[in-house]
Amino acid sequence: METLRQKLERLTQNLWWTWRPEVRSIFRDLDIDLYNRVHRNPLAVLRQIETRQMEKRATEVDIPARIDRALRQLDEYVHPVTTWGLFHAGGLGSRPVAYFCAEFGLHESLPIYSGGLGILAGDHLKGASNLGVPMVGVGLLYHQGYVSQVLDGSHWQQDVLEPFDLKELPLRLARDPQGEPVRVSVEMPGRLIWARVLEACVGRVKLILLDTRDAQNSEADQALAARLYGGDQRIRIQQELLLGVGGARALRVLGITPSVYHLNEGHTAFAVLERARRRVQEDGQDPHAALREAAAATVFTTHTPVDAGHDRFPADLAEEHLRPLAEGLKLPVREVLGLGQLDPSNPQDAFMPTVLALRHSLRANGVSALHGTVSRAMWNRLWPERKEHEVPVGHITNGVHVPTWLASELNQLYVERLGVNWMESLARPDLWTRLESVDAAEIWEIKQVLKARLIRFVRDHVAETRAHQGLSPLDTPPLDPDAFTIGFARRFVPYKRPDLLFSDPERLAALVNHPSRPVNLIFAGRAHPADQLGKGLIQRVNQLIEDPRFRSHMAFVENYNIHVGRNLYQGVDAWLNNPQRPLEACGTSGMKAAMNGALHISILDGWWAEAYDGQNGFAIGNGETHGDFSIQDRRDADALFRLLEEEIVPLYYDRDAAGVPRAWLQRVKRSIRTLAWRFNADRMVMDYVNHCYLPAAVAASCQMPPA
Ligand SMILES: *Cc1c(COP(=O)(O)O)cnc(C)c1O
Repeated sequence: METLRQKLERLTQNLWWTWRPEVRSIFRDLDIDLYNRVHRNPLAVLRQIETRQMEKRATEVDIPARIDRALRQLDEYVHPVTTWGLFHAGGLGSRPVAYFCAEFGLHESLPIYSGGLGILAGDHLKGASNLGVPMVGVGLLYHQGYVSQVLDGSHWQQDVLEPFDLKELPLRLARDPQGEPVRVSVEMPGRLIWARVLEACVGRVKLILLDTRDAQNSEADQALAARLYGGDQRIRIQQELLLGVGGARALRVLGITPSVYHLNEGHTAFAVLERARRRVQEDGQDPHAALREAAAATVFTTHTPVDAGHDRFPADLAEEHLRPLAEGLKLPVREVLGLGQLDPSNPQDAFMPTVLALRHSLRANGVSALHGTVSRAMWNRLWPERKEHEVPVGHITNGVHVPTWLASELNQLYVERLGVNWMESLARPDLWTRLESVDAAEIWEIKQVLKARLIRFVRDHVAETRAHQGLSPLDTPPLDPDAFTIGFARRFVPYKRPDLLFSDPERLAALVNHPSRPVNLIFAGRAHPADQLGKGLIQRVNQLIEDPRFRSHMAFVENYNIHVGRNLYQGVDAWLNNPQRPLEACGTSGMKAAMNGALHISILDGWWAEAYDGQNGFAIGNGETHGDFSIQDRRDADALFRLLEEEIVPLYYDRDAAGVPRAWLQRVKRSIRTLAWRFNADRMVMDYVNHCYLPAAVAASCQMPPA
């Protein structure tokens, strides 16, 4: 007989629970304080809870029955009778797509992500799992995690390490077909680096993570993958070699033969060289043919139009690190270096992994229609003989994993109105037309509950932050729950303009303090630890919030992560996004807010440029840009103020006799109906299958060179 503890243990071992609120609540109900203290990590609850407490609570809140039900559902999920993938991804021949990425954001308790890229990768794996598309994620285990954000008394971001305990994470040693734990090594200048391989289950798919804490490594090498995006160029190129080369080797030792390699960002590009090297060294293949062959099975996604977002390694550093791969490829190291240089005729030209990947993939894409266009212009220099629209970079717009981000109250409504199995067909537009018959008042009631919960969450956070900063508590808690509430959360970098509204403090004060139509603004966001400009922006926004005119209407929530994000997306009335067009590649936070019944207020950049239809949210400006950024900023700020003052806030406060904002909710319904079916992870993964994975699988099996 399995004990309660053993059953709970089994439940924690598949990250399926990350998108099943009813499973997470089992662990919360065992001990809510403990649950919150350990960042809502079920396995940590299990490791730390006393058996007596567990057994006592189990009888009080009906836990055994809930566990049995969850285990049965998990079992059914992992062994489906049929899936979308079975019918539509058969061309992969049951061989998984290997999804390489430097970060994966699956849950706040597994801090191996920093922001948008990682969360997208996590959502991609979850989407593939739901569709039954065979996939394996490949990444690095940063054993010191990513830093947490704590603001000091002068509102300056401190980056605090919160090392996690592997015993409290659902990771186990990956084993080869003979049952032996897997280790791989990668040649670095003057030595080998060893990595052990850990694996996690994400529903029906697997994620493997390379961990450099191997006894055979020097202490310095054990720390190589300690931190995500920490360290200098040398650490970074070595991390990338570990990920690309070590990742490809790990798959092989595990006996996994991917149908397609999906490389995300340049960080993962070395995988192409490793696969070609293997063919040359082991099968005597011609090096150029081997490179073409590796490229045929490769799909590459670029995730940013910001030039500084693409690594540039000095030629000397790159050459030193490429030497072992070049030897294996039987090519001069200069030639291999040239594969990643914009100008291979200049021996000093920087090595760009993005360039290597763009030149060695069957399909390359940006992450929104606009980003596709911008990327074609940006990379035209790699194909100078082609016209811009002929540059071989397409686009697949990002989407988000609905079960991860949707409030359970709204899930309940969708179950009632769209059908019990609505999540299985959420990428179908006709499903969402059923929303038309829902009474606006019903959505309103739910949003009121979610907003009240958010405001409690923010007030608690603010009180805690003030306490640890040594500031006195506020005399009145900030944020009136009846006021129109706008959320703004993202990485703090100048191009995202988190301080745009503060460019006119008088006008902002009048807006938020309006006697009958008050407005709340909730901010969150982190800066990269090395980004002084970003930290300066965080300080500036926090100083401004302290202004007595703003204090009761604004708040900044520290340490934006998946947990903070989930609370914000679910509770706000509107979501603000005001980047400098066209620098936002896609943006996904607005999608998460929209499916939770918030309206998106955004510059026509990233996904919004293709999603806005005139009535499903709001557009700041008309998509035109000015060459002078300061003029652009002034214009956008003015357009945003006018939109808020004249249109958005009045619409929100336009109420019927029962106090329900009918016209506002009409827009909310339209927003959900027109956006939810498109901007979700199922649709995104389907697009990758149809437009990238299946063509690459065919090309690879024909050994066709890429076009
Ligand atoms: C969705 C998400 C992001 C990315 O959102 P953007 O709109 O691309 O900024 C970043 N961080 C967290 C915690 C998220 O949930």
